[in-house]
Amino acid sequence: MFKILKKFFYIHILRKKYYRTGKCNTCGRCCQRIYVKHKGVIQTEEEFKKLQKLHPFYTYLKVIDKDETGLVFECMNLDPETHLCKIHKKRPGICRRYPQEELFSMGGTLAEHCGYKLEPIVSFEEVFKKVSKKSLSN
Ligand code: SF4
Ligand code: SF4
Repeated sequence: MFKILKKFFYIHILRKKYYRTGKCNTCGRCCQRIYVKHKGVIQTEEEFKKLQKLHPFYTYLKVIDKDETGLVFECMNLDPETHLCKIHKKRPGICRRYPQEELFSMGGTLAEHCGYKLEPIVSFEEVFKKVSKKSLSN
C-alpha cells in the first residue's frame, strides 16, 4: 500500500518520472563539470554574468570549458585534493537536492561512478504491458 501511495505521490503530485536511490560516495565529480540552466542552458559569459547577480551559488562557479550543450563550470568550493565541498554544511539547496531528473532534460547524465541512481518510476515492463493491452483491444 505504501508503495502504491508513494508512486501516486511522485507521479501525480511531484510530477516526477524517476526515483532517486543510492547515496553520495563523495567523489566530487558532480562539482567539476556543471551545466547551468536558466530558461535554457547558459551559452555565453555575458548570460552567466547576469545570472550571478540572481543567486550566490553562481558566484562559486568558474568557466572551464564549452561543449555542444553549453558552458561548462567547475565549483571553486570543491577542495581539489580531498574532493570534498569546503562549505558542505552551508552548501546551497541546489547541491543538497542533486541529482534531480532535470539533469536529463539538459542533455546531462549522472557523473560516472556516482553513488546515486535515477530509476524510472514506471518500469519498462509496465509500459510494455500497457501498450500491449491497448494494441490487443484495438
Ligand atoms: S557548493 Fe559544494 S556541493 Fe555545491 S557545487 Fe560547490 S563544491 Fe559542490
Ligand atoms: S557525483 Fe554523485 S557520488 Fe559523486 S559527489 Fe556527486 S552526488 Fe556524490
